[in-house]
This record gives sequence, C-alpha cells and structure tokens, in this order.
Amino acid sequence: MGLPPQLTADQRSAALVKAKESRQIRSSAKSKIKSGELSLTQIFNLAQNDPVIAKMRVAELLAALNGVGKIRANAIMERLNISPTRRIQGLGKHQMAALRNEFSPTTARGKLVVLSGPGGVGKSTIAAYIRKHGAFWVSVSSTTRKPRVNEKNGVEYYFLSDEKFDEEIAMDHFLEWAHFAGARYGTPREPVETELSLGKNVLLEIDIEGAKQVRAHAPEAILVFLEPPSWEELVSRLERRATDSPQRRAERLQLAQEELEAASFFDHRLINDQVESVVQKLLSLASAH
Ligand code: 5GP
Repeated sequence: MGLPPQLTADQRSAALVKAKESRQIRSSAKSKIKSGELSLTQIFNLAQNDPVIAKMRVAELLAALNGVGKIRANAIMERLNISPTRRIQGLGKHQMAALRNEFSPTTARGKLVVLSGPGGVGKSTIAAYIRKHGAFWVSVSSTTRKPRVNEKNGVEYYFLSDEKFDEEIAMDHFLEWAHFAGARYGTPREPVETELSLGKNVLLEIDIEGAKQVRAHAPEAILVFLEPPSWEELVSRLERRATDSPQRRAERLQLAQEELEAASFFDHRLINDQVESVVQKLLSLASAH
C-alpha cells in the first residue's frame, strides 16, 4: 500500500468543502426520513445513483426513522446480522429485503408448507414441478451426499463437505437438519426467513425427522404428508431407481416402511396420484390457513 496522497492546501480545502456538502445532503435526507417524506425503499433507490446517500451508515438511517431511535436500530441490526458500521452500499440483497419488511408491516407473512413423506414417494418430482411453475418459493437444501448425474450445485442442493456442514450447524444456519440414509440434509434458515417475510409462500421438501423439527421451531408451519398411491407402487419405484446402489435401495425401503407409520404426526395427508393435483391441493392448503 502506498502512502496517503499529499494534498495541496487548495485540494485540502476542496475536500473539506465536499465533506461538508456530503454531511448536509445526508442530514437533509435524515430529516426527510424523520418527517416521513422519504421511505426506506426510496432511500435505497436513491442510494443506487447517489454515492453520498450510498455511504450513509445503516445505523443512522434506521435511527432516523420515525419512532425507531438508536437503541431499537441497533437491536434490529444485530438481529438481522448487519454489522453496526455497515453503510447502505454494503447491504446485501437479503439484508435490504429484511429491513424493508421490518418497516412495512402491511406485507402479510408468507406460509411455510412442509412437504414430507417416505423416501421415493415422489416429493422431489412435486418440488421440481413447483420450482418450474413458481407456485411457491422452494427452498434449496444443503446436503453432504454426492451429486447424482445431472444434479447441479445450487439447483437441487448445495453439496457440502462434512466439515462445511459441521460449520453451518455450529453457526445455527439451519432451520432443521437430519441424517438420511448415510448423509446429512439441512434447510438453510436465512433464505426461508427472507422469502416468508417478503410475503412469499415457501415450500420445504424434507424428510420426516426434519418436518418434526420444523414443527418444534415454527409451530405455524403446515405439515403435509405425501403418500404413495399404494405401498407396492412405492417399492417398485424405489427398486427402479437405478442411481442408487443395491445397499442404499434396501436402506431406503426399510426407512420408507418406518416413515409410512409416521403419517399421523402431520396436519394433512395427500395421495401422490397426479403432480398437478397435488400442487393444486398444496396451494389450497396454503391459502386456507
Ligand atoms: P435425496 O438424496 O433422494 O435427494 O433425498 C433424500 C431425502 O432427504 C428425501 O426424503 C428428502 O426429502 C430429504 N431431504 C432433502 N432435503 C432435506 C433437508 O433440507 N432436510 C431434511 N431433513 N431432509 C431433506
């Protein structure tokens, strides 16, 4: 790193004038926020083109909002994991969304729908259909299992090493996580929370153990158990799954049998007869609750 530039007396006074102007712009923006003339969203929009506004500290911005003040501003930032010295330009997309939601109580929270059921029942087909058609925002889980052919990191799953998965657990980044057939699977908490707070309905496609954890942490979640049209049909589906080793198929069958017995724990049971009809029913459940 080089030394700071040596400024001439003229340059120094020009810099001072500029700093003073910037302070005035920020202070006038703050008064407009206080009076309600400018909303948080408008300030975020202004910051995109105005570097002076972009450099404003988030803590100052929030504290200026009517009825917020410094203490609440700090508490909100801590809760949303925003560093106390963060400037508007340093805010991530999700942080901005979370802040907007915090101050626009008119957005109704989205519904959290958990789709679970025995392995091989066809949950992932339903989730893939919903992803494509956008009926819900579908969470992308993290897993320690290896990707199958055609699976891409960040699309079907985030494929993590065991060490990375441990780190995520330690940082409490999962809404729930569970062991399934020799691997670990978990739902990243933050994106789910962000989408719900933006009013989107969220779908988690997870195993039964995970669904039980969601019930414990988010009692308002709607738990749906997907059932095969028949047990014979499920067995033949699992046996046809060529991407699994014979041992893994046997483990899945055993698990599936135990899982079928867990159906009573769920709020609703749906028979997986046709993808479209299951999706339609999930949508009705979300709007009925
Ligand atoms: P697969 O390896 O076949 O993609 O998924 C195996 C099982 O893991 C499925 O029953 C699926 O629903 C479940 N699963 C996928 N993501 C998660 C997750 O985030 N949490 C939990 N608990 N289970 C998951």
